[in-house]
Amino acid sequence: MELNKLGERTFWLPHQPENDRPMLVLLKGDRLALAVDAGASAAHVEEFYAQLDDAGLPRPDLTAITHWHWDHTFGMHRAHGLTVACRRTGELLAQARASLADPAAVPALKRSEEHIACEYAEAGIVVALPDVVFDGELLLDLGGLTARVLTAASPHSDDTVLVHVPEEGLLFLGDATCGDPFDGWRVDEERLRALMRTIEGIDCETCLLGHADPLGKGELLGYLATLAG
Ligand SMILES: [Zn+2]
Repeated sequence: MELNKLGERTFWLPHQPENDRPMLVLLKGDRLALAVDAGASAAHVEEFYAQLDDAGLPRPDLTAITHWHWDHTFGMHRAHGLTVACRRTGELLAQARASLADPAAVPALKRSEEHIACEYAEAGIVVALPDVVFDGELLLDLGGLTARVLTAASPHSDDTVLVHVPEEGLLFLGDATCGDPFDGWRVDEERLRALMRTIEGIDCETCLLGHADPLGKGELLGYLATLAG
């Protein structure tokens, strides 16, 4: 996978459908670099950092987490700098860490999720907790570049965090627009409509989803309207 560039200060490693790895992003401010999501494993993080190193880019000072699901967080223990998550994500990761402490839990998880079995064929799973926990919204001044890290309602998980970068017209949504994988991928219409209102209210041009290529705000809202019925 090759590192892609969006605008002058946004770099992203594309999602990898074959193993369900999500997109990883680096926002390069004048003073601080912020990553969005920590990836599925140490191997995933290291692939991302190797690409940053090759491009002469800094490793992140901060890594914002969009939600607790394994493919976005199980690389947190290898993240450079500090990890930042909302309080609910911290709670859900603590629960995941406690349940995976049971020796029978990891093999059971691998049997239930082929992509985890593939990602963790050899390595052990390490669940790290966030260094920085926030409620509501966090405003990060990266130096000439602002990241608004905000909690939002979404049909995917109840710990959804979006990252809005006004100077670049970007909105990172993680998997917020998907249904709930723990409920047969059901899309709760009320939560979807709440998310659509949030997106509509944010001044951005380009939306980035964890498991897709970047797309326009209007294109995304048009697609979500078809799901909302
Ligand atoms: Zn997810």
